[in-house]
Amino acid sequence: MTTYDLIVVGAGINGVGIALDASLRGLKVAIVEQDDICSGVSAWSGRLIHGGLRYLEHYDFGLVRESLVERERLFRNAPHLVVPVPLLMPSFAHNRRSRWLVELGMVLYDVLSFGKTPPTHRMLGRERVLGRFPGISRQGLKGAALFFDGQVALAERLCVELAVDAVANGADLFLHTRVTGPVLEGGHVVGVTALDTRTGEETQFRAPVVYNVAGPWIDRVFLPGTAPEQPRLNGGAKGSHLVVERFPGAPTDVVYYESRRDGRLVLVIPWMGRIMIGTTDVRFEDDPDLARCDIGEAEYLLDEVNALIPEAGLTMEDVLYTLSGVRPLPYEPGVPESSITRTHVLHDHAASGLPGLVTVVGGKLTTFRQLAQDAVDDVLRRLGRPATRCTTGTRPLPGAVEFAPEDLRVELIAHGATPDVAARLVTVYGARSRDVWAVTESDPRLAEIVHAGSSMTGAELVNAVIVEHAVTLTDVLARRTLTAFEPGHGLESLDAILAVLVPATGWDDSRVADEVAGYRQWLSHLAIPDPNGPRSASFGAGPTSTQGARS
Ligand SMILES: Cc1cc2nc3c(=O)[nH]c(=O)nc-3n(C[C@H](O)[C@H](O)[C@H](O)COP(=O)(O)OP(=O)(O)OC[C@H]3O[C@@H](n4cnc5c(N)ncnc54)[C@H](O)[C@@H]3O)c2cc1C
Repeated sequence: MTTYDLIVVGAGINGVGIALDASLRGLKVAIVEQDDICSGVSAWSGRLIHGGLRYLEHYDFGLVRESLVERERLFRNAPHLVVPVPLLMPSFAHNRRSRWLVELGMVLYDVLSFGKTPPTHRMLGRERVLGRFPGISRQGLKGAALFFDGQVALAERLCVELAVDAVANGADLFLHTRVTGPVLEGGHVVGVTALDTRTGEETQFRAPVVYNVAGPWIDRVFLPGTAPEQPRLNGGAKGSHLVVERFPGAPTDVVYYESRRDGRLVLVIPWMGRIMIGTTDVRFEDDPDLARCDIGEAEYLLDEVNALIPEAGLTMEDVLYTLSGVRPLPYEPGVPESSITRTHVLHDHAASGLPGLVTVVGGKLTTFRQLAQDAVDDVLRRLGRPATRCTTGTRPLPGAVEFAPEDLRVELIAHGATPDVAARLVTVYGARSRDVWAVTESDPRLAEIVHAGSSMTGAELVNAVIVEHAVTLTDVLARRTLTAFEPGHGLESLDAILAVLVPATGWDDSRVADEVAGYRQWLSHLAIPDPNGPRSASFGAGPTSTQGARS
């Protein structure tokens, strides 16, 4: 059995971020994940890399500055995945936030983002708003603020690249392996017990430091009776999005606006050629894996988008699928979800009888790199190692190394890719497209398209299982190729997909049947809510509900 310096529980954005930083600083790391890379809340987010304009309402200037610095780093270190996007924030007569308050926020946001590359904000008058976004409701429209943030449309790819990079630098990745309890020696945590969820085999991992980075599952990692009782750390709040095709009047900018019903801030986000509408804020106490968008949330979001864009006329029939996840927020009883801080905390369990165990509470997709830096600094201190310099701030992701999108596209076409395939490869893999496409030289059949809607070729499937650690069909379709988020979820192309995957993996008939059944079951995460099902009545209503969700 290998003894590690650090065990990271969870391969969401924060877990893989910590593993990469730690391995770059010379630590021997094991990442232990119950499901797959980015199978938790990192996949259910709004996918914005944002400074957090809303946090200004809570005077959280430190968090806004940190987020804006990280946003800029991601533009530089992952330009193939994280891009600047314009956001339009309209002001209507019915708004609770006045236009001058919005403008003040914009000025502050610009000041806090000094050194940034995207343009500073502009305040637009009513006519210019209508010119930019003709579908917007004219009723009570006064104008809008136009500003920039970032978007990581393929958040799964960001996590996968970080994990692949961590492994390339010496980390060991154990997927589909659930941590069940601590290993205790002399009153110290010296490792964890874990269960291979596919074979049922039990195993142990040993390290003097264990980091619990299980997002909204942090309080559920150790089975009851395996450890002394710990204080509750996670105060989960469910947030859901609807995904629809582009509709009449749909914006080209991200639109960020006040809900008419309760003053929360709601987003309409162009995403993967479609529109994502979100989000909600509902107290959630169950297993985060069970979070689903309910009919109350869906109706609320549809009402809000139809009020913003009168010709949209969206109904439940228009919803392609939904996304829903639980925010890993600190447990703060009595505080409305929308007011709970998004700053991360590294919680040491020494005082509650588990020295050697640290839990990451909170954190956002945007700030994962800084969180990882803080965590690894802490791990080095605990191990008594010298404080080595963190290099992730200036380190490009593998797909960003010498990334010149236009040259790459031309190069791929010269090597036989069609323009559509080349465009897709560059968007999904950045500079790594070359390696993905290289397999077609030895097997030209892998150049064939296996999913027409997205121009995905067999080469990507082979890359997923050979290079990117995918174990199951769901890993491949949901977290490597993102076929799951296309209308039809790739089910119409399963024969062609399996015709490539079966020889690449050696799956027999019974394994194929299990994989297909497992994928169909996973698709319940995207379910359209039952009109007669349970409904959430309110979304973060409380004393500060006008301050909106702080995704
Ligand atoms: C609706 C919504 C919108 C959001 N929008 C944004 C946004 O626009 N921008 C932004 O920056 N942030 C956003 N966030 C927040 C962001 O998604 C999260 O803060 C971030 O993804 C947390 O990542 P994580 O790695 O900590 O958790 P996760 O991604 O959940 O990873 C934790 C991992 O731990 C694993 N795990 C759990 N238990 C065990 C166990 N026993 N053994 C092994 N593994 C285990 C899980 O399977 C999971 O993969 C949003 C969140 C929500 C819900």
